Amino acid sequence: MRTVKPKKALGQHFLRDMDIARAIAATVDARPDLPILEIGPGTGVLTQFLKERDRQLKVIEIDRESVMYLHENMPDVNVIEGDFLKLDLNGLFDGGQFVLTGNYPYNISSQIFFRMLENRELIPCCTGMLQREVAQRICSGPGNRNYGILSVLLQAWYDTEYLFTVHENVFDPPPKVKSAVLRLTRNSRTQLGCNEALFRKVVKCTFGMRRKMLRNSLRQVYEKDVPLPADSPYLDRRPEQLSVSDFISLTNMMEQAAG
Ligand code: SAH
Repeated sequence: MRTVKPKKALGQHFLRDMDIARAIAATVDARPDLPILEIGPGTGVLTQFLKERDRQLKVIEIDRESVMYLHENMPDVNVIEGDFLKLDLNGLFDGGQFVLTGNYPYNISSQIFFRMLENRELIPCCTGMLQREVAQRICSGPGNRNYGILSVLLQAWYDTEYLFTVHENVFDPPPKVKSAVLRLTRNSRTQLGCNEALFRKVVKCTFGMRRKMLRNSLRQVYEKDVPLPADSPYLDRRPEQLSVSDFISLTNMMEQAAG
């Protein structure tokens, strides 16, 4: 039988523990009404449990060898050969919503979540496994040392749940880091309530200098001679002390101050 040699450049770490694979597959049942897109099926460890569900399923895999393996061993699975980051998500299920899942390629996990954000109306639920450190960042709130850019940008649109931790020795080859499974569920926010481009800029700039008070880091978003909002309570704080709604208020104050 054909096997697939793990390729480091593609972030390939194949899961070997069937109980964990079954548990990850079960996370998509939060939305049993929707079809599923799995990123990076590899040799189909997760796919075999996803396809037991009576739901439409598509998988996208960039590695030719894995695609051949799936064609041979799971001929009934709808495999798209290609790069998830370039996939047209609108055309996928006739423009309909779907659940995104996978044991993600860790080297592009942040990019996967940014792409999900751009397509948030199509993806009301996203689950899956990634490196624990990134999962912790995504799921942390204000005051936590892991709270950062990904937390704020994602939590603006999604409720985040850290589901469970996975040890490195259940993979072949074992990754250098621990893993975790999470679930993101689209919240009820329909509009951000501020200029979204400026919001992103403010979040990225202030966390880029996370030990500085906002007054100092924000001078860089605003060119030196544009005034910062005069009486904002936020300027004497550090970014990790601000909630998502604080960042939204601050963005509005900055727009007003700019005139
Ligand atoms: N789901 C499998 C494999 C996980 S490893 C398991 O649990 O065992 C991550 C998988 O993502 C690999 O198969 C890798 O080839 C694939 N992959 C990496 N980059 C990708 C991309 N940009 N688009 C789609 N798949 C990708």
